[in-house]
Amino acid sequence: MDPAGQLCYVDAYARRVEGRVVAVDESGEAPLVVLDTTVFYPGGGGQPADRGLLLRATDGRSWTVRAARKSGRDIVHELEPSDEGPPSRDDVLTVDLDWARRFALMRTHTALHALCGVVWRDYGALVTGGNMEPGSGRMDFEFERMSGDLVAEIEAAVNTELAARRDVRVNVLPRDEAFAIPDLIRTKINLLPEGIQEIRTIEIVGLDLQADGGTHVANTSEVGGIKVTGYESKGRINKRIRLELVDPA
Ligand SMILES: [Zn+2]
Repeated sequence: MDPAGQLCYVDAYARRVEGRVVAVDESGEAPLVVLDTTVFYPGGGGQPADRGLLLRATDGRSWTVRAARKSGRDIVHELEPSDEGPPSRDDVLTVDLDWARRFALMRTHTALHALCGVVWRDYGALVTGGNMEPGSGRMDFEFERMSGDLVAEIEAAVNTELAARRDVRVNVLPRDEAFAIPDLIRTKINLLPEGIQEIRTIEIVGLDLQADGGTHVANTSEVGGIKVTGYESKGRINKRIRLELVDPA
């Protein structure tokens, strides 16, 4: 599968596209389908894979895509099993995302990067991991002195940054160039496999820059705000912050 057909990495707002089936695998419980073009995000970096539909205009049939994942260079769509069987090789299908879910994930993902940016800028704490669902997420930090008071400060600072209508930019840089950016070191860019020659970055202009494969909104105003819903210790140094989105007014 040509990387140019993987639209999620270049246009997070692409929610529907026509693609041709290039491979079908019926050997497992759920049929797996690869298309030459897709809008599905295959999951990764704490962002779950998309869900949605495949539609065949010639006979009106549709299939539910319950998951997606990366397999080698391909994005594989996992279909809900059905008695009528999967589409065929060379079928032209409309690929249609569950957009409400995806857009909530984009807003959540950008909110988590804003949180990382604030915690790094104001407290110098490194992020060690994270995960999200549509509308909520958590991030873990090396943040020994975190407390309830600090969490309230962090929530207010993140909301200030989101309200500042900061642009969010996607860049793809040659490996050497990316490794020369000091800000990227903290996101453990050095853990990326040797073979990767290009590094994709997400920049919240003026706040945060990370190596990242996920989908994001184009401006922080689309996130709305956040509410910190919990924080906990995962050891003496490792602390976890949970947040939920607050819809834009
Ligand atoms: Zn991310």
